[in-house]
Amino acid sequence: MSDVFSRVVGQERAVAHLRAAARAPVHAYLLVGPPGTGRRTAAAALAAALLCPRGGCGECDVCLRVTAGVHPDVAVVEREGAFLGIDQAREIRRLAMRTPNEGPRKVLVIPEFHLAQDAVPALLKVVEEPPPSTVFVILADHVSPELVTIASRCVRIDFGPLPVALVVATLVADGVDPAVAADVGEASGGRLDRARLLASDPGFAARRATWQSVPSRLDGTGATVAVLAAELVELLGTAAVAPLTSRHAAEVAAMEERVKRSGERGSGRKVLTDRHRRELRRLRTDELRYGLATLAALYRDALVQRRVDAAAGVAGLDALQQVAENLIHNPGETLLLQALLLRLPPLRAMARGSSAP
Ligand SMILES: [Zn+2]
Repeated sequence: MSDVFSRVVGQERAVAHLRAAARAPVHAYLLVGPPGTGRRTAAAALAAALLCPRGGCGECDVCLRVTAGVHPDVAVVEREGAFLGIDQAREIRRLAMRTPNEGPRKVLVIPEFHLAQDAVPALLKVVEEPPPSTVFVILADHVSPELVTIASRCVRIDFGPLPVALVVATLVADGVDPAVAADVGEASGGRLDRARLLASDPGFAARRATWQSVPSRLDGTGATVAVLAAELVELLGTAAVAPLTSRHAAEVAAMEERVKRSGERGSGRKVLTDRHRRELRRLRTDELRYGLATLAALYRDALVQRRVDAAAGVAGLDALQQVAENLIHNPGETLLLQALLLRLPPLRAMARGSSAP
């Protein structure tokens, strides 16, 4: 079936819910899952299905405009600062009250609702009981305690990480070399957006090799730790930046083309550049997370193969897990990596190809 929902990769259960939702919609949907699991694509598909006279055919003018992000009855309210604030809550309320331009219905998409903290109370009432013409599609990475109440007013649909095999198969279908697809699929953590980015990043293999070399280069001295930490921090700054910035440039060009053609207000520019800045920042965190996972895999292998003192190996894994869990409160990468590397025991270098992180 090649309707609007066929663009959502994997997520069969979520898509089945969304199809049902499109046939008999309620006032609000909450799409929950990690970034890169297709929620934005799914939100656009649901919006198209709700507005399309044929329920989301994927071919008509309505479907095409919704997926291109230019339909007047689909509004996406992006956060403007670090959090979704009171100003955006006000904007959301205003948009929710507006009469649709073209048909009987309009759709309000709110991404990153897990960053709404302060705006939540201001939105509770309108999400709970919007005008009959309004459908909310709310996206969140997770449901934090402050979101529980508002979440209970929505139909929740969960998105999970994709199986690595599916990520690899999708990349190969995109035309990526199978060997590259297998490597980056493994490193993607089940996130198709990240896998696609890494697949177009010629520096990926070298970065992976550097992370993999760390345990065998440790020698118990602070001097080596300082050298390694500096090297890794430098690496974070180069990760997949070129493919991401070229994608950003394409998005900016597409937006300017749209503005020129439709004469729409240029206010989308700031939202777009803000999102690009956030994506670049997230790239660093993703890369660091990937590096930590690579190290953890090496220590797990070493423990299984008894190549490291059990207590030291387990302590190293604990240290890695602690850092990974606290990445969100990032205290500065250099200090973080130095402190981490001091807690990791050295490992003997392994023959090439015998470890599989
Ligand atoms: Zn259609």
